[in-house]
Amino acid sequence: MRKSLKFMEKKGPFHFIPEWDDWVDPEYDFINDIQKNKGWEQSVYAHELINPPAYDGLLVSKVVEEKSKIKRERIRKLGIHKAMRVSKDFPVMGDCGAFGYFKEKTPPYSSEEIFDYYSKGGFDIGVSIDHLIPGESFGDKDFRYKITLDNAKEFIKIHKTNKPDWIAMGAVQGWNPETYAEAAFKMWKMGYEYLALGGLVRERTKNVLEIVKEVRKSIDKNVCIHLFGVARGQILENLRELNVTSVDSASSLRRAWLGSKDNYHTEEKDYCAIRVPKPGNRGPLKNLSEYKLKKAESLQNLNLKNLRLYDKNKISLEEVEKSLKDYEKLYLKEKQKSRIENYLETLREKPWEKCKCPICKSDGIEVIIFRGNNRNRRRGFHNTWVLHEKFLKTRKKPQ
Ligand SMILES: [Zn+2]
Repeated sequence: MRKSLKFMEKKGPFHFIPEWDDWVDPEYDFINDIQKNKGWEQSVYAHELINPPAYDGLLVSKVVEEKSKIKRERIRKLGIHKAMRVSKDFPVMGDCGAFGYFKEKTPPYSSEEIFDYYSKGGFDIGVSIDHLIPGESFGDKDFRYKITLDNAKEFIKIHKTNKPDWIAMGAVQGWNPETYAEAAFKMWKMGYEYLALGGLVRERTKNVLEIVKEVRKSIDKNVCIHLFGVARGQILENLRELNVTSVDSASSLRRAWLGSKDNYHTEEKDYCAIRVPKPGNRGPLKNLSEYKLKKAESLQNLNLKNLRLYDKNKISLEEVEKSLKDYEKLYLKEKQKSRIENYLETLREKPWEKCKCPICKSDGIEVIIFRGNNRNRRRGFHNTWVLHEKFLKTRKKPQ
């Protein structure tokens, strides 16, 4: 067995993160807002900034890889581990990314083609080709259920014939506990040692747990289970009890810039990141007149300066509040609600001072400023680290 697959023998849950080119400039100049390094060669992944990495493995989806010709060629040439700049022993899972083609009648790949892609890329785990079922009322559900099972059958057949040293993972789809459990049972009988349940991203936590419970009952206790898109911090204990080996999700990472208020996570609560948008040709302050642009630039600079001074206890909270309010007046649209109260909570409690992650330790208050990829993604890396600490804690508990 590959060293990268040793985790399968242990009790989880292990934490995978979907790969979406979320990299940053390692030498970003926060004071002058200057990006010195761009592109894959010069940028760093979260696992290069945080060591040991704040996740146990990576999930690379084919539909994501296909968006960039350069990326596709890089994986082909270097292999998946070198392309992701992780060691050979770091688990990398590959799947097709059913979310990317769920509107199509059938998945756009063949099992042979996908098998070949995993083998040549040096993946540690390769997932069979599934087709998402967006709910019980979906007209095409039986057809999609059957396609997913047929693909799994074909995929394991090719895998058994070729005997690669990577693990075949069977993708399970369904629309209620019974349909998931039945498909899982069939795939276990086909010979899968590792099954992944898909289509759970939007399911309520209660339903997710019921589905997993039913699946667990229908298969051998040694068969590993992965849950796509369900790395939810509040249910890690339940997942451990249900003997779930691994889960993945980019949700913690993405809330950093997609969340309205829950951008910066801590073990106790979530905080709102402080918006200091850049005036220019993007964002809420785009295409301003020369007069307004000047005004916006000076307020932007004042706010950045004030936040840093406040961080060093050199000015009062009221002073920062005033400049933030002035800036909001300039960029908030008519119906948008002010976030000042949330900002004040963040500033009063200064969560970045208490955080022990390498990102907050090195970049401090810059991480909580909502502004550009280099800050926003770093805040996402911090969130991922916070979530990963929960995984580590859960796994440390006696069984
Ligand atoms: Zn942190």
